[in-house]
Amino acid sequence: MTESEYKDLRKQLLLDSKNGYDQLSDANRAELESYCKDYLRFVNEAKTEREAVDWVVDAARKAGFREYDPTAALTPGDKLYCVNRGKSVSLAVIGKKPLEDGTRIAAAHIDSPRLDLKPNPLYEEAEMAFFKTHYYGGIKKYQWTAIPLSIHGVLALTDGSTLKVSIGEDPGDPVFCVTDLLIHLAQEQMKKTLAEGVSGENLNILVGSRPLAVDSKEKDRVKLAVLLLLHEKYGITEEDFLSAELCLVPAMPAREVGFDRSMIGAYGHDDRVCAYACLAPLLALDAPEHTAFCLLADKEEIGSEGVTGMQSEAFEYLMQQLCASTGADLRRCLSNSVCLSADVTAALDPAYDSVFDKHNCARMNYGVSLCKYTGSRGKSGASDASAEVVARFRRAFSRSGVCWQMGELGKVDAGGGGTVAKYMAKRNIDTLDAGVPVLSMHAPWEIVGKLDCYMTMKAYRAFYGMD
Ligand code: MN
Ligand code: MN
Repeated sequence: MTESEYKDLRKQLLLDSKNGYDQLSDANRAELESYCKDYLRFVNEAKTEREAVDWVVDAARKAGFREYDPTAALTPGDKLYCVNRGKSVSLAVIGKKPLEDGTRIAAAHIDSPRLDLKPNPLYEEAEMAFFKTHYYGGIKKYQWTAIPLSIHGVLALTDGSTLKVSIGEDPGDPVFCVTDLLIHLAQEQMKKTLAEGVSGENLNILVGSRPLAVDSKEKDRVKLAVLLLLHEKYGITEEDFLSAELCLVPAMPAREVGFDRSMIGAYGHDDRVCAYACLAPLLALDAPEHTAFCLLADKEEIGSEGVTGMQSEAFEYLMQQLCASTGADLRRCLSNSVCLSADVTAALDPAYDSVFDKHNCARMNYGVSLCKYTGSRGKSGASDASAEVVARFRRAFSRSGVCWQMGELGKVDAGGGGTVAKYMAKRNIDTLDAGVPVLSMHAPWEIVGKLDCYMTMKAYRAFYGMD
């Protein structure tokens, strides 16, 4: 064999993975930048699942979507949204084919790891006021100290009203934080493992230090001063914390990263980067062949539990109502449907390359990453998409000029993770994971490549029109 024959053979037979920037057209480059600019706004303005739902409903209404009315007849091209308890939202564009022919479901989650307030959070110690927290989702606790945090959520009052809270996002707002021990006195702490260095019970939020001006022998003057401020602003007393959902998230705004501005740093890319990539093309969709859904779920970070998580029968209920109004059989609809589980994956980080299998990992700027299976310890907990399903997606993405790659979360037995995929598969829906590779996943500040964000959106757009 000659050298040139060998080269041809390599070209013919070997899988040719290319950096996405080597395949990007000028037109795509412009669309990439404008898409990422829009995403940056979303990720800044919707930091919790409730805020994401409000944001999405607003955007959907502007795009001509209306709230789903189960008594109204469905016609192709109808654009609907359905909110579940303010924390998850389903959007649909009704297709030309009957529901029994199956649907295209893109499912992402809009909750992210954070610090939730305990039911009875406020206390005073050493004449400073603090909130007790219970972390939500998988976090490295030490990462959440000594950074500015904002507080988001709701206060549900006994008169039936609900007050929204958001403090710390406006540059003029105060912020909050968890203190950390100074290095000078940290000899013992520094000997501990990263897991033990900062305990869950130490994730207390500093919220005030100015005492009320009364007799200095009085107790809890700082705590009472904080409560007085809250009472003046929201009309609440300490008991009202018992029915509140307040959480602390990083207050840093999303920013472009790198001299070349090729990346985006933000809190909660997992999974709002995929949620937005599902949403944006759906909002622009007009009467597709198959009915297309964008499901934005809550509670993925704690196992997709609860009434607003992807395990909830709220999904079946909605599908049942849609099927009933067109006389379609629900189970046939589900079994003919395809789900794209839209969730982030780990990007190869050269600083920690020992946990990645370089032949089977996602790389930044190589496009949306497909994951045939997730899970851990021998694929435990994975739904494991079939070869036939993966082939369907390969075909759809290749036809649409999507730059995509395939990878596992990390090395075998290095750890693992899950997504909503298995809960969709359990419903007899063929499901495949595909999403954006992320650096520093679950840290207060996560990094993604703009090219991957854009290619993920293109992939989901192609999915909505998949055969
Ligand atoms: Mn996720
Ligand atoms: Mn996650």
